[in-house]
Amino acid sequence: MSDFRDVEEFRTHVREWLAQNVPPVTLATGDEAVERSKRFTKKLFDAGLAGLEVPRAYGGQGLGPSHQQIWREEASKVPVPMGIYDIGLGMCGPIILALGTEAQRTRYLPPLLEGTEIWCQLFSEPAAGSDVAALRTRAVRSGDGYAITGQKVWTTGAHFCDFGILLARTDPDVPKHRGITMFIVDMKAPGVVVRPLRDMSGQAHFNEVFLDDVQVGLDAVVGEIDKGWEAARLLLSFERLAVSGGGSGIEGGASGPLSFHGLVEAARGAGTLRSSGARESLVDLYLLERSVNVFNERLSREYDSGIDPGARGSIGKLLKARREVAAAGLTTRLIGPAADFDAGASPRRTDATLRSFALPIGGGTNEIQLSIIGERVLGLPREPQPDLHTPFSDLDSRRKDVAR
Ligand SMILES: Cc1cc2nc3c(=O)[nH]c(=O)nc-3n(C[C@H](O)[C@H](O)[C@H](O)COP(=O)(O)OP(=O)(O)OC[C@H]3O[C@@H](n4cnc5c(N)ncnc54)[C@H](O)[C@@H]3O)c2cc1C
Repeated sequence: MSDFRDVEEFRTHVREWLAQNVPPVTLATGDEAVERSKRFTKKLFDAGLAGLEVPRAYGGQGLGPSHQQIWREEASKVPVPMGIYDIGLGMCGPIILALGTEAQRTRYLPPLLEGTEIWCQLFSEPAAGSDVAALRTRAVRSGDGYAITGQKVWTTGAHFCDFGILLARTDPDVPKHRGITMFIVDMKAPGVVVRPLRDMSGQAHFNEVFLDDVQVGLDAVVGEIDKGWEAARLLLSFERLAVSGGGSGIEGGASGPLSFHGLVEAARGAGTLRSSGARESLVDLYLLERSVNVFNERLSREYDSGIDPGARGSIGKLLKARREVAAAGLTTRLIGPAADFDAGASPRRTDATLRSFALPIGGGTNEIQLSIIGERVLGLPREPQPDLHTPFSDLDSRRKDVAR
């Protein structure tokens, strides 16, 4: 596999492999869908196509971002059943590679690439979403490690995951961005309770996760103790790049139910292509789509030549979210009843339309992306942060007083 230095030769190989190995779309959900994804991912691993940028020592291929970009482009054209690995491959694996110990990389990366272990992200809490540094889950020293107690929410895939990357407060007596530590948590450990939450698509994609005195060793710490905020920011920047680059769960890819060409064809079939404003809206959608793609290609080229994308991943994430929402809006407007709403003809399009509302929220809302772009890309004045220097324990007791 490592002989594919020539990227165009690599593209041909990927295209042919996908054509031969991607299974037909099914409506499988739950355990059946997870098993289907596992089978496909194992095949991918055996074919030497998993972990293109991951060093060979950890089960990857040791290739560069250009190869990864080609994979994304080709994989977006066919329905690759790997959405359950988006968080592991796009965020948890990269953070372990960047900040993990040698033992963590060796233990966790190969099974992740092979598809035998699935990962989730345990950041958000009921009172800590956009302001994730307000998290209240505590990790206190216990024996040779830590005991973790608290609650997480909106945890995608926790009901079928093996491990999660979790943020917990290890020192409440310093300002909220300090005193946080990142941990690896075994989702099957005693004290972890996962409760699926049903969203408006009727399915349970995310969960509440309760942690009651969950014991972890010091070898579960990712990066440095009390330096979890820096680790979290890095992981979130990986998340934005993964989302804007089109993780396999994104529906607007060329093979997705919200693809541009699929939408045009469906509107033609529904006889609405000539309706008022249809063409203008479709051209707007096309321009948004091109912006995301051109932006990602540029970021990938720059990354190849050693330029860190930094906060600019937020630009791609924001554009991608706007593109998905625009595509979903056009689906209802131009296809509407002729699509599959309630009719069950193609539940993928209904499902994708309903789930399009998730993209402007998950991974940081559009408003938060605008703030990041303004502050960290354009150097505009920072948002006021009156609690920046107050110890978290003071903030927390004030909040409890208000709630009382
Ligand atoms: C489909 C989906 C999957 C998710 N998966 C995960 C997961 O796997 N793991 C995980 O940890 N989390 C996950 N999340 C949670 C997600 O990261 C949060 O929902 C998100 O960060 C927003 O937090 P919140 O829901 O608490 O909203 P809030 O932070 O309460 O925001 C409410 C509103 O206020 C606005 N707002 C808040 N602060 C500001 C500000 N400073 N400036 C301007 N506007 C502001 C927001 O933009 C939003 O419109 C998921 C969410 C979704 C929708």
